[in-house]
Amino acid sequence: MNLSHTNQARGVEDAALNLSHTNQARGVEDAAPYKRIDTTSFPRYNSRRKRGAFSMKTLLHICCAPCANMCIDTLRQDGQELTGYWYNPNIHPFTEYRARRNCLRDYAATISLPLVEQDDYGLRPFVRAVAEDIEGRCVKCYEMRLFAAAEYAAQNGFDSFSSSLFISPYQNHELLKEVAERAADNWHVRFQYRDFRPLFRQGQERARELGFYIQKYCGCVFSEQERYLKPSKIIR
Ligand code: SF4
Repeated sequence: MNLSHTNQARGVEDAALNLSHTNQARGVEDAAPYKRIDTTSFPRYNSRRKRGAFSMKTLLHICCAPCANMCIDTLRQDGQELTGYWYNPNIHPFTEYRARRNCLRDYAATISLPLVEQDDYGLRPFVRAVAEDIEGRCVKCYEMRLFAAAEYAAQNGFDSFSSSLFISPYQNHELLKEVAERAADNWHVRFQYRDFRPLFRQGQERARELGFYIQKYCGCVFSEQERYLKPSKIIR
């Protein structure tokens, strides 16, 4: 397990990103520079953090920055102290994984979001986990990610966990919820259910405005094949 507290390691002050350097790291395809983010609401958030005025310490599993931005805003507006958690062994190939991860890294630094990375490019364990039932693979995919999030939350003093996956109308929302509840039971930590789906469109629009890398398929190689063979269908 390769965990790193990215923002702590790099310093939140690094939020003033060196865009050209960042884009080199992100590769050619997604090299459009990020636009600067309106941070006017963050001084209040930061001062609440210093005063310890938060209602709950929450670990938010994050699948990508375009899905996460409205989830983060919503939970912060509720007064929760958030930490992001990146663990997505379902994203392939590596260049796609890196583009999504780096976009989140940059965004997290810009909004002062602590980000824990379990930065394993998990092609092999993922393929092993789903190989016996390719058609029914999503349940294994959800289990890998949400059980890891629940475990990290339980072992690191969080009051609850949730996931940005709950914003996507393309995911199997009920299955996600059922898996998250099992993960919570298993690790004795609270799963905070939120139906973020009404915010999906707004989050995508904002992602475009901010110049985020926006993926064209769900994540795994199988979903990439489905995306291009059946353009109307990203996930079953
Ligand atoms: S389609 Fe999406 S949710 Fe299903 S296994 Fe692939 S990456 Fe995971």
